[in-house]
Amino acid sequence: MSTPPALEALKIEVTQRCSLACKHCSTDAGPSRTTALAAEAVGRLIREAAQLGAAEVTFSGGEPLLRPELAAFVGAAAGASMRPHLYTSGLLTPDSVPADEGRFRTLREAGLQKVTFTLLGASAASHERMTLVAGSFAATRRAGEAAVRSGLECGFHFVPVRANFRELLDIVGIAANMGFSQVSLLRFVPQGRGRPFAPRQALSAADHAELRSLVLAARRQASVAVRCGSPYNFLLAGRPTACTAASKTATVSPSGRAYPCDAFKNIEPEMFGFPCSETDVLQRGLVSVWRESHYFSSVREAAAAAPAEPCAGCANFPRCGSGCLAQRAIATGLLGAGADPDCLLQVETPQ
Ligand code: SF4
Ligand code: SF4
Repeated sequence: MSTPPALEALKIEVTQRCSLACKHCSTDAGPSRTTALAAEAVGRLIREAAQLGAAEVTFSGGEPLLRPELAAFVGAAAGASMRPHLYTSGLLTPDSVPADEGRFRTLREAGLQKVTFTLLGASAASHERMTLVAGSFAATRRAGEAAVRSGLECGFHFVPVRANFRELLDIVGIAANMGFSQVSLLRFVPQGRGRPFAPRQALSAADHAELRSLVLAARRQASVAVRCGSPYNFLLAGRPTACTAASKTATVSPSGRAYPCDAFKNIEPEMFGFPCSETDVLQRGLVSVWRESHYFSSVREAAAAAPAEPCAGCANFPRCGSGCLAQRAIATGLLGAGADPDCLLQVETPQ
């Protein structure tokens, strides 16, 4: 096994409980979920992330604001010289009570630097068609305004699916009006509740080609950054970002399982012949999983491997890199095989 690189960013899903019940949620989170990491386990993960060299810890869920210990978690990460980041809907209850300025101020004083809110549509009708919670559009916006007033840097996550992807420019406009600095596109992952949702709502190759045009248009118009990370390299919509799965990033689930990145959630090591116990951070600790798991090591090797057909002869490979390793694994059941399932060459050759 080769020497593992330093971990750069750890994401900790502190609870599966959530005020929303989004149709596409790959974590299968919701108001009735009870699985959560114990506070001691979160504290240990933070210490181990620092030991592995991480610069950033993101608290996610479910809804991390539902954990009363969140400010203590943030303080522990900041105290270990890592940048704490929060992913949230901004909602404290399923009847759309938003977090207020006082809550965000407490988190900022504990060391929080950045908050990313999920916005799934540019109107209440469109956002709430995805979240299934009345009033959640206004509540997320109110929480976002409170976070800005408290002095935090803020952005939106937007998951493009068939029902909402043409609203990207409007979402970017909302971000600009609210004083947010960034809109990040999260690629839909057909896992958890996303699996039954995919046949109706996953973007087709033609939709992705249209999304690419919208991203380029948004970047021309917007005063906020419009970001697509490595999962969207296949869109060829800017400078490529290297796949970080198991080489720079790890995600820990509310049940204490480590995954190479968010998109690998629910892809179990057994699928590739490795025991599940290899990624159990509650039993083994994060340091051992990161350094000794054969599964993590195989994901690193697959991400760095030379391209296979049809990508080997493709002129787009330097920018696309065969797309997203996790999406390829979900589509094929194999680690590292073939082209991204949404490869744009199915419809055109982008310039
Ligand atoms: S597997 Fe996909 S989502 Fe995960 S780091 Fe690589 S490109 Fe990004
Ligand atoms: S063939 Fe492979 S490298 Fe070329 S665009 Fe498609 S996924 Fe990317």
